[in-house]
Parts: sequence; C-alpha cells; structure tokens
Amino acid sequence: MIKDVTGWIKYAAAAAMMLALVGAAAVDAAGFPPDAEPEARVVLLGTGNPKPDPDRSGPATAVVINGSAYLVDFGPGVVRRAAAAVLDKGIRALDPANIRVAFVTHLHSDHTAGYPDLIFTPWVMGRSEPLEVYGPKGIKWMTDRILEAYREDIKIRTEGMEHASKEGWKVNAHEIHAGVVYKDENVTVTAFPTKHGEWKESYGYRFDAGGRSIVIPGDTTPTQATIDACNGCDVLVHEALTMKFLNNPMRPNPQGFDLKAYAAKYHTTTVQLAELAKKAKPHLLILVHNPITLRPGRRPFASTPEDLLREIRDAGYHGKVVVGRDLDVY
Ligand SMILES: [Zn+2]
Ligand SMILES: [Zn+2]
Repeated sequence: MIKDVTGWIKYAAAAAMMLALVGAAAVDAAGFPPDAEPEARVVLLGTGNPKPDPDRSGPATAVVINGSAYLVDFGPGVVRRAAAAVLDKGIRALDPANIRVAFVTHLHSDHTAGYPDLIFTPWVMGRSEPLEVYGPKGIKWMTDRILEAYREDIKIRTEGMEHASKEGWKVNAHEIHAGVVYKDENVTVTAFPTKHGEWKESYGYRFDAGGRSIVIPGDTTPTQATIDACNGCDVLVHEALTMKFLNNPMRPNPQGFDLKAYAAKYHTTTVQLAELAKKAKPHLLILVHNPITLRPGRRPFASTPEDLLREIRDAGYHGKVVVGRDLDVY
C-alpha cells in the first residue's frame, strides 16, 4: 500500500512537471506549436512534375499565415499531402476542411489533376463554404465541367443520408488578369504573366504576407516579369530542368518530341535559372518541379538533387538555394 502511494505521488509529480513543460513550451497535445503564427510560411505540398513519382506529389504549394492557408496549384495528391502537413508538421490551417482559397498558375493537367479532390474531399470532411479559386481564362469552364461530372455524387451526399453541406461543394471560380487578384487581412496576392509555350494564359503569384514576400511563378521560361515580381523577395519557388536531363540520351521519350525545342518554349533550365536568380536576388531560392529522383539507386541515369544544385552553382549562382521536398516548410 505504502509502495502504491509512493508510486502515485511520483506519478503525480512527473505529470505536473510534464504539464509545466508543455505549458512553458506552448505546444498542443501532439507536441506541435500553435498554428496561428503571424509569420508567413511556405509549405511544399508537391514538388514533382507530371511523372508519377511516389516521393514527390504533383505541383502544389501552400502559403500559411495566422491559421489560414492559400494554395498555389492543385496537382495530384494535394489533399493527401495537406493532411500529412497537419499530422506530421502540426499545420492545422492545412486541415483539408479549412482550405478555402486556391490559385492556379495554368491549366496543365499536372497542376490541376487534384482539382476534383480539392473541391470534394474537404467538403465531405466538413467544409461548409464554397471554395474560392483564382486562375487564368478556362478555370470557369473546367470548374463547371467537374461539378457537372460529379452531379450524382453531389445530389446523393446532400439529399441522402450523408447530410453534407449544401454550400461546401460549390466553387467560385475567378478568371483573373495581371495585378492584385486577392486581398484579405492576411495576404495580398499579385498575379504576373508568365510564358509557358502554347498556353495562351499563365500566371505566377506574389504573396505579401506578414512582412514576407513569396513568389511562385509556376511553369515558365525565364521572364522579366518573374525578376520584377521577386526583386529581392524573401522566397522564390522556381522550376529548373537539369542540363543532365536535357542531354541524356538514355532519357525515355515515348512521344518522340524535340525536348530541347520544347524546353526552350515551356521551361527554365538550371543555367537560365542561375541567370534569373542573380537578377531577382531572392533571399532563398527553392527548386521544385525538377526532373530528379530521390531514389538514384533505382534510376541511375536520372538527375539527383546534388546534380541540380551543382548545375546552379556551376552556372554562377551563389545565393541561398535548396532543393524543395514534399512537406518542407520555409
Ligand atoms: Zn507542370
Ligand atoms: Zn505546365
């Protein structure tokens, strides 16, 4: 009995100490800090490209501030990665049901294949307000047809036993022009035109949020508009094709198209990005949408993160640069 009481006292003392520690560190039950930081953070939800790479989800980036999240692009996997950011990083603003605002750079399928997921999964998980989506001409057409395709699902979920919200499946799709496209108490979002091959319209976005400036051009050749949008910005999230990929004779090319001619019209190489970054002068350059593998043992001819960084350095860029990985937070 005495032993039990002693044990209980020890347990109570330890529990009190734990509570004091938890209180001092201001963390939640899962050990994460509060999710209402006034400092804007960039959360990489998908750093991949069209290749179905299990280590790199489809293109999607989130800017998170004051407990709210703003997405740029919704490639395949976006909602799963958002859920992972909640579980693994404690970023509750990315709880899918909390995502209400998204921007799309262009309508290529690798950037929009997660759109039905972004519309419907958060609704099924409890979102009760329409999703606000901003993007180039064509986003309304795409939105209307996705909603039409899921008409039966919407009917059954709202009128049947599931009692889903009658508003949460709706989308307000806004077709934008260059300039300020969105403003609330947390962020001002400015769109700028990018150049992406045969796409008539594509836009990059600059976020000014909580004293930080974050520029996300999406897929594009190097443009003066990107340099001007950044102009010493805090974070520039940019694509870069490796020269190793472009020059690799082992590279699979099932469509047999002229990759170098295509890349010159649609994308940015490491050498071009080094030149661009020297002029744009970001405090941090994050590389995404790259033709790299995180499993070099399985794909010995593919570029690696080290190849990517080496090419940028060799091309003369000496600013701070990192290879973005899914769920990295900057
Ligand atoms: Zn893309
Ligand atoms: Zn694209």
